[in-house]
Amino acid sequence: MSYDPKHVKEAMGRLALRRAERKARLASFEAQCRQRLPQLAALDSAIGQSVTKAIAAALQRGVDPTAAVEAARRENLALQAQRRELLERAGIDPAQLEDTPLCPICGDTGYHNGKLCQCVGALCAEENLAQLSRQLDQSYTFDAFSLSWYSPDYDAALDGSPRDLMADVLAVCRDYAQDFPRHPHKNLYLYGGTGLGKTLLSGCVARAVAQRGYWTVYATAGALFRAYEDVKFGRDPSGGAQEDLRRFEGCDLLVLDDLGSELTTPFVQSALYQLLNQRMLENRRMVISSNLDMDAVRQRYTPQVASRLEGEFQELPFVGRDIRIQRKEG
Ligand SMILES: [Zn+2]
Repeated sequence: MSYDPKHVKEAMGRLALRRAERKARLASFEAQCRQRLPQLAALDSAIGQSVTKAIAAALQRGVDPTAAVEAARRENLALQAQRRELLERAGIDPAQLEDTPLCPICGDTGYHNGKLCQCVGALCAEENLAQLSRQLDQSYTFDAFSLSWYSPDYDAALDGSPRDLMADVLAVCRDYAQDFPRHPHKNLYLYGGTGLGKTLLSGCVARAVAQRGYWTVYATAGALFRAYEDVKFGRDPSGGAQEDLRRFEGCDLLVLDDLGSELTTPFVQSALYQLLNQRMLENRRMVISSNLDMDAVRQRYTPQVASRLEGEFQELPFVGRDIRIQRKEG
């Protein structure tokens, strides 16, 4: 599983804020308690001294420290009990005066055994889903995808009904998202005419995979190749396009929507090949949607691109009639 460096930075910022808020809340609560219970400060200081005594006794040379350490330990326990009693009598839960991090694994530092903690992973997943939701809203869910948009009538050219064929496509997409990244089909190629639900279904896959915590990036072909061109031709003063390229290349799942809708120049052909090649070499997954079948792909792109798509992607043909009208009607 990979993380977007930008999301990691945001997650670390949220953890730092969480630590600071917790400390401030604790300090203010402690001050309130001390004001209400003047004995509390004296007890806390005596508890601190008993610990110092125990350490000093343990470090004393030439004498058996056992008895002195034991005495200091008893004193400490007695003081702790007094403190607990004092707080409980005042109706205060002693746990409220302890510094308890939200993540017990890393203590809200973000690191555990020199690696990013799973709580950072969870925060990154939240950031990723929030970013994705700005492009693909809540309607991109498998449950919102209805097979009733496709005709149940047998079609000789398809050797089946559009509904049955689309039921298979839907099942593959669902399983792919569910088993990601271990589904036997590493990459999917969704193709067919306009308005048959390719963008909808590829968006459902994107959201479902992101919800499972994988770094998922969605881009239309137009936006993706524009970012490559901006970087190549020096039109990226803010560095945003360069950052987008790192996302396209580094994410766990890249959903490339509407391949073929872009203006296909030799530069685009070469950028596409490099992107495909790099992602396949690094064993990163891709879902592509397109109006182009493989014959059209061979005509429009280089033989290398066509061979990558044919060799590494499972083709899923979309059939039926334009569902956009029916979705509005329904
Ligand atoms: Zn943690």
